Amino acid sequence: MSHSNEAPFTSEGVIEPLHLIDCSPLLSQSSGASAPIPHFSVASDSGGERISAQAQLRADRTNRGVRIVGSATGVQEGLCARCLAPARANLQATLDEEIAEERFATGETERFGPGNSVDLGRLAIEGLDLVRQLVLHCDPPCPERCERCGAAHPVADCPQHEVDPRLAVLGQLLPHVEGEPKREG
Ligand SMILES: [Zn+2]
Ligand SMILES: [Zn+2]
Repeated sequence: MSHSNEAPFTSEGVIEPLHLIDCSPLLSQSSGASAPIPHFSVASDSGGERISAQAQLRADRTNRGVRIVGSATGVQEGLCARCLAPARANLQATLDEEIAEERFATGETERFGPGNSVDLGRLAIEGLDLVRQLVLHCDPPCPERCERCGAAHPVADCPQHEVDPRLAVLGQLLPHVEGEPKREG
């Protein structure tokens, strides 16, 4: 994947670079210069889900550093929250991020990594992560699961609509509890 073994250190620990580029050639040019970036693909797993991305980006020289602009498209893959079958969602994001040289950087400004590197893979994944589905569902939607009996119909259509089975069970047990206590079998 990457030839670099100097992984950037963050508050979350060491993270592997996903797709590094060296901005030194562009930084040696004056503001207004631009460099196309070959298309690339990356993927990242987190929280039991995977985001894979294809990025189409360009790097512009600014008077503070480099501005990365373009778009990322990708796919979020995980399990449907309703039926637990594999599910996926298409994602798309516009990227526009300026990375400043250390002497111009303030506060939360993005900074270059070692050797004027920028992890474009991480930028693309983070861009898509912002628009990911918070709860993944089948597409087309799987049948809604009944809260009452668990079958594949909305709770409003449940044949057991009139009698809540949990209450029905309680109703059968209660008279026995006083006279002859016995466990549900
Ligand atoms: Zn589903
Ligand atoms: Zn039901």
